Amino acid sequence: MNMLRSSGVGIIDDMDWGTHFCHFYQTKEDLTNILVPYFKAGLENNEFCIWITSNPLSVEEAIESMQKVMPDIKKYLDTKQLEIIPYNEWYINYDEFNSKNVLKGWVEKVNESTHRGYEGLRVTGNVSFLDKKDWDDLIDYEEKLDRIVDNLQIMVLCSYPLDECDANQIIDAVNNHQFTLIKREGNWTMVENTRHKKTKEALNQVKERFDRQLEQLTYITSHDLQEPIRMVSSFSQLLKRRYKGIYDEDADEYIDFIMDGAQRMKDLIDDLQTFSQLSTREKKSEPVHMDVVLNEVLDNLKTSITYNESQISYDYLPVIMGDPSQINQLLHNLITNAIKFQRGGPPKIHISVEELSENWLFSVKDEGIGIHSRYHEQIFKIFKRLHPREKYEGTGIGLVICKRIVERHGGRIWVESELGEGSTFYFELPKIIG
Ligand code: ADP
Repeated sequence: MNMLRSSGVGIIDDMDWGTHFCHFYQTKEDLTNILVPYFKAGLENNEFCIWITSNPLSVEEAIESMQKVMPDIKKYLDTKQLEIIPYNEWYINYDEFNSKNVLKGWVEKVNESTHRGYEGLRVTGNVSFLDKKDWDDLIDYEEKLDRIVDNLQIMVLCSYPLDECDANQIIDAVNNHQFTLIKREGNWTMVENTRHKKTKEALNQVKERFDRQLEQLTYITSHDLQEPIRMVSSFSQLLKRRYKGIYDEDADEYIDFIMDGAQRMKDLIDDLQTFSQLSTREKKSEPVHMDVVLNEVLDNLKTSITYNESQISYDYLPVIMGDPSQINQLLHNLITNAIKFQRGGPPKIHISVEELSENWLFSVKDEGIGIHSRYHEQIFKIFKRLHPREKYEGTGIGLVICKRIVERHGGRIWVESELGEGSTFYFELPKIIG
């Protein structure tokens, strides 16, 4: 899952990267009502934020309105995490609105955001400066933007002056955004673009089918590889037992390399098989006593916990509906990582739970090496590892398995962490009675 981003705006849920939406405003307050919380959420979530202002809001007024909710806004302006730019410095090139240059500018800013260690780019632009004659160019720009945002770590909110738009223009704007915010009788409401909704649903179905096929393929290949790898492993052990010291040191070393390679391949295949079995095995749904499962996991990890002198504490955990062996695997992977990625001293780990309105929010917190924010989403992708194997053993599949399990249980998983400051892995699972 691309981790959802908080929109900051009350009537919208959390959003994916690639969200392109618009709002219609009539007054300065309409603008700041939406834009201020939108940017506050972005700044607090380590995003690079760009606000392109235009009439009726000046750069100074935009800063003032932000300062009311974030007194330390200067800090974000000084570090350039927030840039507030007048429209003529961003949209206008040689006196003209040039959609190609503006699109190129956004892509460059997305790249800049990841290079500077931000999670992505959150932007807004106000098009009130455009004349009616520029409308076709604007629509062309919006159509192209709508197509490219899907693949970028960006979210775009376009502001349209309601009083300056005629009915056709309003329809154009609504058609070229995923959804639109508009004020009705003093309250903001959201209008969804049905074309977008349908495309998204179709894409999700294709993705689901693709994931299932990939998992089946992984299952078959990893299953078929078990036998040959077992042969390599056992015959190299036999070679070592019979012939160690008989030839020269090089020969002994080569045998060790083969054994080491075979072991790594076995670990990889085992993990791939676990991953693929998540969808090939029948889905179970029964009451799972998280407390009992946690104790089983801690019991299985007894040797490693004792060896590393780990201190593990936990809250009283609730009962959820799900597959006990998958929940066991989830906790196992998260706790194993929390022990593995320690900073030197004995690992300190706390497993806690909080009751939300519809979900349980679980967390596994460690005081280990931490993870730079630029990797918070990537580590949930297959084979993504941040350290060489010599430093920390692993296959890079553990968190993909966790993500798959949580999603199959109707929840989501993410990490909050800073390099050198420990990590907390959060996952939400639905309550039995929401
Ligand atoms: P593996 O542990 O086999 O390498 P995972 O998929 O479990 O693979 O984790 C992917 C990467 O995420 C790890 O290689 C590590 O860089 C990072 N990571 C996972 N958990 C933690 C943690 N608790 N603390 C620091 N880094 C972590």
